[in-house]
Amino acid sequence: MSKAPKPHLRDDHRATCLTCMDGRIQIPVINWIRRSSKVKFVDIISGPGMDKILTTPHAQMDAILTGIKVSTTINHSSHIFVVGHFDCRGNPVPYETHLEQIIAGSKKIKRLFPSYPVTGLWVNSHWHVKKIIDLL
Ligand SMILES: [Zn+2]
Repeated sequence: MSKAPKPHLRDDHRATCLTCMDGRIQIPVINWIRRSSKVKFVDIISGPGMDKILTTPHAQMDAILTGIKVSTTINHSSHIFVVGHFDCRGNPVPYETHLEQIIAGSKKIKRLFPSYPVTGLWVNSHWHVKKIIDLL
């Protein structure tokens, strides 16, 4: 008797990730999101110091919102993540400020996209991902 085939992950099993462009954090963040959310793909929307971009008036904001709309409505993403990280050279502020910005940025995205869960993440000095806030 043959085993039943594994359920196929369709390409719309996705999450959306608003994150820094820093190459050191991409793989840890993508792996963490894929494990925790059972998604196959992670749409990356990046910029230098994303937690700062989301919480201060910024020229990149319109492009970021367009990216989120494409990722959610066309790509059928089911979850949005907001990421800050250790040693961020695009946003060199103390850890406490990063936490405030990750929380404020997550709340802002939740207000703009209320039907999606939004989770704020921190990547620490060991490149480990920690959950900071969950807005379901
Ligand atoms: Zn950074």
